Amino acid sequence: MSPGKISTLDFDKFYNIIDGKQRGSDQIHHGVNPTSGEKLWDVPIASEQDLNDAVAAAKKAFPAWRDTPIEKRKELLGQLAEAFQQHNDEFVTLLCKESGKPKKFAAIEVGGVAAFIGYHCALSIPSEQFEDEEKTVYTEYSPLGVCAAICPWNFPLVLSTGKVAPALLTGNCMIVKPSPFTPYTALKFVELAQSILPAGVLQVVGGNNELGAAMCSHADIAKISFTGSIATGKKVMQSAAKTLKRVTLELGGNDASIIMPDVDIKKTAPEVVMGAFQNSGQVCVATKRIYIHADIYKEFLQEMVNFTKTLKVGNPDDGDNMLGPVQNQMQYERVKTFFQDSKDKGYTFAAGTADVAAAGNKPGYFIQPTIIDNPPNDSRIIQEEPFGPIVPTQPWTDLDEVIARANNTNTGLAACVWGADVEKASAVARRLEAGSVFVNSWEKLTPRAFFGGQKESGIGGEWGTTGLLAYCNPHVIHVYKL
Ligand code: NAD
Repeated sequence: MSPGKISTLDFDKFYNIIDGKQRGSDQIHHGVNPTSGEKLWDVPIASEQDLNDAVAAAKKAFPAWRDTPIEKRKELLGQLAEAFQQHNDEFVTLLCKESGKPKKFAAIEVGGVAAFIGYHCALSIPSEQFEDEEKTVYTEYSPLGVCAAICPWNFPLVLSTGKVAPALLTGNCMIVKPSPFTPYTALKFVELAQSILPAGVLQVVGGNNELGAAMCSHADIAKISFTGSIATGKKVMQSAAKTLKRVTLELGGNDASIIMPDVDIKKTAPEVVMGAFQNSGQVCVATKRIYIHADIYKEFLQEMVNFTKTLKVGNPDDGDNMLGPVQNQMQYERVKTFFQDSKDKGYTFAAGTADVAAAGNKPGYFIQPTIIDNPPNDSRIIQEEPFGPIVPTQPWTDLDEVIARANNTNTGLAACVWGADVEKASAVARRLEAGSVFVNSWEKLTPRAFFGGQKESGIGGEWGTTGLLAYCNPHVIHVYKL
């Protein structure tokens, strides 16, 4: 296919893309539409040979792509963003089918693709130099080579392209492995890219967890950028250690929101609810523990409950729906255990009901958003990440104590502080052990700022200028004067 040509894409057929070409497989799997439980299209599972071929094609493509001037790489990425936008509606429909998210939110995710690419294309790779009497020392950043992106199912498109854009911009080749639960949009995005990018620069291999593991131990892959659970992240790091691969691990979180006593209750409570239930709580940076000052606890919780009751849950096409289903059955069953545990322990359901099935909208994996009022510190709902629409609230009185409570977790992805006194709220934000802290907003990530977790929420990070360096080796050239 000639550069610049916009391909005609068939949104009913899905392939692995290896060395610029579509490839099927003897082994097939399929996603499930979470709103209906219906089987979606067949997708090929890449074999070991497919992975080896993709790595070989990327290795072959790498020198020319690395040596392509960055302005030219940006131009091609810009063309890719434009070509993608021409298929905007098809990608929205596809994303709704594979993820179940309401159309308006699927549209935001699809819109995020061009925004992520466009923003990255506005960046420059940083460099430094210093000079003394005898030499000039240049610190430059060169690409790593063949990188792999292992992606989760909650934002299948934007989290994949959020890895592709910085990797390709910095001169790397990238092989994407989507989640087996949501392979479709990522497969199609990479297929679309073949009309613009040289063969081997961007490839995709669909498959299961074993394929991800094979990527992590592949000798010719220089870096794994992984987004997913903490448990899998640890496995990725362990197997990557054998070849000393670079890793970026974007993992789970248990984000705290601290509500100061001076907040505007009516305005803030709905926002805090959105932070907890965005994408039905299936967000790494969703608010997962809410600490409300005791003086306003009752009133604030009541406002949260009132707003939560207005959130409509249902299929993507009803424009009023704010929340879709849980994305897959495995996750649905897991989220239900938090309901059962809360019911068994006798916790108070301030909003929602202990009986998920009664609230659901069978046959999809629907769960009504649910608030648990003041469960104990050692409860599962406080200690673990449910990754679904259920969130606990607790009161606090002493600032030092609540900061300690918020920090008392093995995770450190994001957090929020809400207060009318912005300086005071910002001072609290600086004491929270999390990679990104939001003051007077729920967790709204932007490609313009670095994103990564502290503690077990990850290693390294991506996005922003600092994020570009995650795809580079520092390359220091010491030039002595003659
Ligand atoms: P997961 O860890 O089950 O799977 C993520 C990806 O890893 C999938 O593509 C999967 O096939 C692959 N995989 C599974 N086993 C593997 C192995 N042994 N080696 C290599 N790859 C393997 O995670 P998930 O259920 O898809 O996503 C949910 C989790 O991801 C939540 O904990 C959430 O908080 C986290 N998450 C984090 C971020 C972030 O940016 N920090 C963003 C979204 C989701």
